[in-house]
Amino acid sequence: MPTSYSPYWNPKNETLPRDELRALQLYKLRNLSEWAYARSPFHRRRFDAAGYRPAQLKTLDDLRRIPLMTREEWMASQLERPLFGDLLATQEVNAIRYHLTSGSSGRVPIRVLDSTKDWEWISELWCYGLWGFGVRPEDVVYFAFGYGSFIGFWGAHYGAEKLGALVIPGGAQSTENRVRQILEMGVTTVCSTPTYAFRLCQQATEMGIDLATDSRVDKLIVSGEPGGCIPAVRRRLEQAWGARCGDVAGMTEIGTLVVFECAHQPCGTHIIEDHVLEEVLHPERGEPVGYGELGERVVTSFGRAFMPLIRYRSRDMVMKVPHTTCGCGRTSDLYAGGIRGRWDDMQLIRGTNVYPRAVEEIVREHDAVDEFQIYIWRQDDLRDEITVRVELKPNRVAEWPELREKLAAALSSAHEGLRFNVDQVACGTLPRFELKAKRLVDGRPMTARGG
Ligand SMILES: [Zn+2]
Repeated sequence: MPTSYSPYWNPKNETLPRDELRALQLYKLRNLSEWAYARSPFHRRRFDAAGYRPAQLKTLDDLRRIPLMTREEWMASQLERPLFGDLLATQEVNAIRYHLTSGSSGRVPIRVLDSTKDWEWISELWCYGLWGFGVRPEDVVYFAFGYGSFIGFWGAHYGAEKLGALVIPGGAQSTENRVRQILEMGVTTVCSTPTYAFRLCQQATEMGIDLATDSRVDKLIVSGEPGGCIPAVRRRLEQAWGARCGDVAGMTEIGTLVVFECAHQPCGTHIIEDHVLEEVLHPERGEPVGYGELGERVVTSFGRAFMPLIRYRSRDMVMKVPHTTCGCGRTSDLYAGGIRGRWDDMQLIRGTNVYPRAVEEIVREHDAVDEFQIYIWRQDDLRDEITVRVELKPNRVAEWPELREKLAAALSSAHEGLRFNVDQVACGTLPRFELKAKRLVDGRPMTARGG
């Protein structure tokens, strides 16, 4: 018998009036701040240097007395005192799990430890997101995920179990086997990156399978890249899968998801404000920006006690909008368009800012495109050039001449007339990604890179 469920995982907190929500945040921030000052040498050192004491926290605005925390400081501490630096607020022996960042772009990976209690919190937050998008105990949830040291969907796995769904860990196996498993097990919900959701469709097509009609999948939950909130990407995924597509986002530094899209699909993500405090600041000047303005996401997590994160600069590009933007009844604010990429991804080409997400929005409007790559290079050691390399679907290559012109024109007009080179590459030559897609390749000499 189908049961009638609340649309909210935590009906009380998710609909709390804003003033009560802010009071709850202040209470949790005080606790966190005291905990970190007393237990984490990293935070005590930084609080002392900034002349901040937890007792100074009288209102939520006093938050700004707390110094911002950067990845660089954290990494410096890790390198000085391997393996974990002095951020830990409790002894290593209390940990039950070790994870690290995917280590993309050749940076030092962030190493994290979590306790049993931290993991309970991590799965609880995933429950807000999974339940909020409509996952119920009757669902069969498939994780197209490698289950390695990268934290990725680990928390989502536990969240789906916690809410009572049947979980299928689609770990290390071929894409072909994953497609078979999705059909065989009557999977209703698939969790992956947007890029890998496309890859599964391509594989299914090669196997003569139409996932939209041959599978039971009606929910696609994507994470790890900005694609889930790019309208063209979403539309194509929803058509190919015959399913609703929802965006969620988290980060290894927090261990879990912190924003999720609800079943109303506002093309934006609710912030789980009873568990995290999210500020949006000007990326250079550091002052708060208002609703509807782009800024950098700065995050404080109330739940991860082992490694407290307080006013951590994520470098993520976001735009906050009020909760009333969505009609679901939640009182938590949203990020319109989800997480829009990273401020560090911005490229300066001959004086014009180019964001990979903006390029993707345009390229994905064209259904004939299978995969693409943005290549930046230097002409005659002098002038920066940008080339979009496009791989077409095998049965659509005849459309190239017309498509090339359309793309060049659309890309240029969206970038103050900047000239884009648009090249075709042979089918199957561009890299495919399972975790975080890296579609921007910078071929300029190191000294010439801007952005
Ligand atoms: Zn909503």
